[in-house]
Amino acid sequence: APVRHVVGQTKVAAIINQKGGVGKSTTAINLSAALGAMGKQVLLVDLDPQGNSSSGLGIEKANVENCIYDVLLNDVPIEEVIIPDVCPGLDVAPATINLAGAEVELVSEMARENRLKDAVGTMRGKYDFIFIDCPPSLGLLTVNALVAADKLLIPIQCEFYALEGVTKLLDSMKRVKTRLNPTLDIYGVLLTMYDGRTNLSLQVAEEVRNYFGRAVFKTEIPRTVKLSEAPSFGQPITEYEPKGKGAIAYIELAKEVISRG
Ligand code: ADP
Repeated sequence: APVRHVVGQTKVAAIINQKGGVGKSTTAINLSAALGAMGKQVLLVDLDPQGNSSSGLGIEKANVENCIYDVLLNDVPIEEVIIPDVCPGLDVAPATINLAGAEVELVSEMARENRLKDAVGTMRGKYDFIFIDCPPSLGLLTVNALVAADKLLIPIQCEFYALEGVTKLLDSMKRVKTRLNPTLDIYGVLLTMYDGRTNLSLQVAEEVRNYFGRAVFKTEIPRTVKLSEAPSFGQPITEYEPKGKGAIAYIELAKEVISRG
């Protein structure tokens, strides 16, 4: 097994796009697992009430006593909800459906935008990377992620209307930057479900690269059935099909993420 030690600063990245179904959870699971397999220490915080990145890593929600909801609203320390070594190098702070209530319950709380930042802050120095898998909305949970994060990783699906809603996301980012998190920035934009055989994918990729320039990762995540099957086996793609093109793509992405530092 690789020797693990955290070198340098913890990077906290929110995996964010208020559109559903663009590959946020798939990326949260597989990028985290790829980095873990490469010897990095990674924490994945599941902030989506659907809990897809928790269940996709084989975490049985019925067995989860406290989840990230309890961290945000019941003052439970984050280390008490973290499940260690879900995969090599990867710990997970899981979500259950309880988290669905947080969006409403947070409204009446003090320091409601800072809850996740405070919790995640206690984990700085213990991990190389902390990823936050965001819900598909721009509500208070997402604002918590925008405040907690150093950087944003924005998956964009190679489909019609790929950029739709992205300006709204960038507006939210700007607002949070002005008031709550001045150093927030884009880590990278990731093209997902890319199919190089179709003109549509090629066109969307070009459009996104024109819009975001060098912020777009060189690695494109291909559309492959294996990536959609792996979660039902509770495995990241690097375990489910280690030599397949999905695993290769997420390992390439992990290398790019490391090199962006
Ligand atoms: P989000 O978290 O943004 O809602 P998901 O990661 O859950 O999106 O992906 C939406 C659906 O698309 C899921 O069924 C997932 O398995 C599938 N999917 C995601 N990425 C790929 C891919 N590269 N190839 C094939 N299917 C994918």
